[in-house]
Amino acid sequence: NTSFEIVIVGGGSAGCAIAASLKKRQPSLKIAIIEPSDKHYYQPAWTLVGAGEFDINKTARPMADCIPEDVTWLQAAVTEFKPDEKQVITENLGAIHYAQLVVAAGLKLNWEGIKGLTDTLGKHGVTSNYRYDLAPYTWKLVQELQSGEAIFTQPPMPIKCAGAPQKALYLSCADWLEKGRLGKIKASFYTSTPALFGVKEYIEPLMQYIRRYKVNLNLNSTLVEVDGPGKTAWFNVKDADGNVNRISKPFDLLHVVPPQTALDFLKQSPLANADGWVEVDQHSLQHVRYPEVFGVGDCTNTPNAKTAAAARKQVVIAAENLLAQREGKALPSRYDGYGSCPLTVEKGKIILAEFGYGGKLVPTFPWDSTKPRRSAWLLKKYVLPWLYWNLMLKGREWLARCGACG
Ligand code: FAD
Repeated sequence: NTSFEIVIVGGGSAGCAIAASLKKRQPSLKIAIIEPSDKHYYQPAWTLVGAGEFDINKTARPMADCIPEDVTWLQAAVTEFKPDEKQVITENLGAIHYAQLVVAAGLKLNWEGIKGLTDTLGKHGVTSNYRYDLAPYTWKLVQELQSGEAIFTQPPMPIKCAGAPQKALYLSCADWLEKGRLGKIKASFYTSTPALFGVKEYIEPLMQYIRRYKVNLNLNSTLVEVDGPGKTAWFNVKDADGNVNRISKPFDLLHVVPPQTALDFLKQSPLANADGWVEVDQHSLQHVRYPEVFGVGDCTNTPNAKTAAAARKQVVIAAENLLAQREGKALPSRYDGYGSCPLTVEKGKIILAEFGYGGKLVPTFPWDSTKPRRSAWLLKKYVLPWLYWNLMLKGREWLARCGACG
């Protein structure tokens, strides 16, 4: 069968969740998810895996178990959108027709964007929590390192989970501090951004950890090249006048977060904005040119923090609006830009950053959200993974009405 009432492109966090959400509302809907991967990943736990705090095997499940019952899984990659014909073209199953479309394909991790990186990832002390197979290698390196230079990098925005580059830094430093190695190990953070964090209220609380771990902090500094065997990293550093200087740094451990862009097949499609992201209205999540198309998750142009927490809120809004659009009614729901970033500043404590559009703080709990808390750690390590698999992916939505999901 090649024709469906609703086609969802991508069976990741947002795609599976919106399928479940739509089915809960209207069980008779004929829905297909087009998704090439046979595994579904809970990526937020990879930060904990890189710190020896979570079992990597518990972060992946068979895709077949995550796609809701009575939703057709078309195991294929989409190569092209033809929104004027209400079709998507797939690599191996030809054209698939829809009445309404949800794009939830995530983003592209552009490992090739850093010269030399792909040759050395997973070797020579070069790692990244942004890959399922490499997060355990981060923990191996952290345990093995006795002394030397440990470098952690962050690429230009937007990236998914903007806090994750720092989380790797803090958790590694916490481990070395506990083992009495910090000092012999010198940690550096190089970020392309002009500030440590995008929401100002969280900067000073994070700076306290930069000082505690004696981190050499470098803003406006972008990793551009890596030589693994030579243990050298190169950065483009922008000065106050906007001049760019290339510098080199030796390392013993290098944790890289890759540059991130829109996926190529999206960039080339009529659904994209100038930067390649799916161009939706930031409140209704409806496409600005094709009213039967909606976008959720990391693939859109909405200026929220690209997180599973944001996706969890968005899928409810998009599901309500999509069903209204189907019936020719006005769209009832508006997304406020909610995203959350549980900043793992030490083992056992988290600053739970929660904010909406414009950096407006929207804390779930009635206490000061800029303080590191043990309760937030327990939430991230034990509660949220359970909520993800059992509520978010099942369309049980009371969760989406509250915050605090990272
Ligand atoms: P994904 O979940 O990435 O899913 C996209 C899906 O689209 C994939 O299954 C992919 O196979 C599929 N796809 C790709 N190309 C095609 C194609 N051509 N055709 C069809 N399907 C395609 N979020 C938080 O809320 N809190 C955190 O603490 C947090 N920490 C993170 C730490 C790390 C290290 C990482 C990597 C991410 C973290 N995130 C966190 C972010 C979170 O995982 C993402 O924001 C979330 O998964 C986005 O959901 P998505 O469905 O848009 O994309």
